[in-house]
Amino acid sequence: MKIVMLGAPGAGKGTQAKMIAAKYEVPHISTGDIFRANIKNGTELGRKAKEYMDQGLLVPDELTVDLVIDRLSQEDCKKGYILDGFPRTIPQAEALDAALAKRGEKMDYAIDVDVPDENIVNRMSGRRACTGCGATYHIVHNPSGKGDICETCGEVLVLRDDDQPETVQKRLTVYHDQTQPLIDYYTTQGILKAVDGTQDMNDVFTAITKILEA
Ligand code: ADP
Ligand code: ADP
Ligand code: ZN
Repeated sequence: MKIVMLGAPGAGKGTQAKMIAAKYEVPHISTGDIFRANIKNGTELGRKAKEYMDQGLLVPDELTVDLVIDRLSQEDCKKGYILDGFPRTIPQAEALDAALAKRGEKMDYAIDVDVPDENIVNRMSGRRACTGCGATYHIVHNPSGKGDICETCGEVLVLRDDDQPETVQKRLTVYHDQTQPLIDYYTTQGILKAVDGTQDMNDVFTAITKILEA
């Protein structure tokens, strides 16, 4: 089962991707998580990526594509995977398709988690991210039982720098310009499935499982 998650920043891609990964026992691959881990570890890639991320811009395709294609060639991806936050541009989608075609494979589903812009700023201002394990909470919709401490690893939860309202606006503009065209791209391939992302997160998950088990 190979799945691409689409949707605006804050639509709930990561939340759903983690639930799908747990239920179907496939790896969850988040480019945002990979970049943040590199920033935390002070790598050259992290240093370069941060310049773009802090401005709400996309990290250039040259720094992103090979990283993901390499990851997909690892052993644990043989039974499938969920891509969260990649592809985000048409060239990334084309590079992914080319890499899959080389192996005689193709993407199975592109799931668009649909949430209007009006809801996004609120989602983002309430998002809290764990500085230790990357777990994601929401102060209203999905609070940690331990306040501003992660339930899973005990590290502190923070508002991400790029979740400040000004940067969120920029990310939404970038989303509409560069990422939304992927909806047409995967519609043309006949694999696009849209779900209403404004529902409760468990209802969104139910809608996704219905698609995957249809
Ligand atoms: P969100 O889940 O809120 O959409 P992510 O964690 O997916 O945010 O991504 C955070 C930032 O990392 C993005 O705003 C962008 O700068 C960078 N990024 C993540 N994935 C990609 C990608 N596929 N291409 C380019 N930049 C990316
Ligand atoms: P993305 O990966 O698309 O950027 P996240 O999964 O990180 O989005 O979700 C963004 C924020 O919204 C998080 O704080 C998350 O807990 C919360 N969230 C996710 N899904 C829902 C939902 N269906 N209803 C309300 N809040 C949600
Ligand atoms: Zn944690």
